Amino acid sequence: DGLIWLDGEMVPWRDAKVHVLTHTLHYGMGVFEGVRAYEAEQGTSIFRLDAHTKRLINSSKIMNMPMPYDQATLDEAQRAAVRENNLKSAYIRPMAFYGSEGMGLRADNLKVHVMVAAWEWGAYMGEENLTKGIKIATSSYTRHHVNVTMTKAKSNGQYMNSMLALQEAVSHGCDEALLLDVDGYVSEGSGENFFMVKDGVLYTPELTSCLDGITRKTIMQLAKENGIEVREKRITRDEVYIADEAFFTGTAAEVTPIRELDNRPIGAGSRGPITEKLQSQYFDIVHGRSPA
Ligand code: PLP
Repeated sequence: DGLIWLDGEMVPWRDAKVHVLTHTLHYGMGVFEGVRAYEAEQGTSIFRLDAHTKRLINSSKIMNMPMPYDQATLDEAQRAAVRENNLKSAYIRPMAFYGSEGMGLRADNLKVHVMVAAWEWGAYMGEENLTKGIKIATSSYTRHHVNVTMTKAKSNGQYMNSMLALQEAVSHGCDEALLLDVDGYVSEGSGENFFMVKDGVLYTPELTSCLDGITRKTIMQLAKENGIEVREKRITRDEVYIADEAFFTGTAAEVTPIRELDNRPIGAGSRGPITEKLQSQYFDIVHGRSPA
C-alpha cells in the first residue's frame, strides 16, 4: 500500500525494492534522516524540513557520498511522500544508499540512490510515557567522538551501537539506554539527545559525541525564550542521579521525560515542571498553535 519516492519517481510500496547485493546492506555506508509531519489547523506541515534536508546533504558530504539531488528536489520528495500517501501526520524517512553496481570496499563505480518513505507513526515510546516518563539504564556501549562523524552526520553505520545499547537496556527492564562517551561523560540516548534540569538551569552535553539534534536546538531556543538558562557542558552520571528533572529529545521521541536512571528516581520520579512546560510548548509549535 502507498507510494515511495525512489530516485525521482513515485513507486508502489511493494516495488520499492533493493537487490541482495546492495552495497549499503553489506557495509552500512549510507545516510538518512528522520522527519515528522504534523497535522495543524492550517493543514499538514513538515517540522523543520529545511534543517533536516540540510543535515542529510551535510551527512552525505561528510560520508563522501555524492548526493544526486539538490535541496529543493529533496524537500519536494518529502512533501510528495506525505501528500501522495494522503497522510495527515507522518514519520518521514529519507535515505541515500549505495546500489549494487559493485562489491567490496574498493568499489568505486557505485551509484548513490535516494529514497523517501512516509507512514503514520504515533508516540515513539508510547503515548503514556510522554506523561509518565521512562526508565533508562547507563549503557555498556559507548559513543565515539567527533572524528568518527557522530555529531553532524546521521549515518547508517552508527546505529549498530545504538541498537545494541537499546537491546541491552530493554533486557534490563528499561525503556531506553543512556550512552556515555569514551571518557565516561553522558552523550545521548540510542536516538535522542539528553537534557537535565538542576536548580532551574537546563543542561545538555556539548556537541562532542552526540548528534547535533534538531529537536535539541528547538528546545534550547524555547528554554531561552522562557528565561531558563541553558548550559552545554560535560555531564557525569552522578550529576544525572541527583538532577531535579531529565528528558530526551528527538524527532521520533519528541520530548520524553526520564523518571529513572539505573534504578534511581530522578527528582520526584515523574515528569518535572520544566520538562512539562517545554514539552507542551514543543507540541504547540509542531502543531502550528504557536510560531516555530
Ligand atoms: N541522537 C541520535 C543518535 C539520533 O539518531 C537522533 C535522531 O535523529 C537524535 C539524537 C535526535 O535528533 P533530532 O532531534 O534531529 O531528531
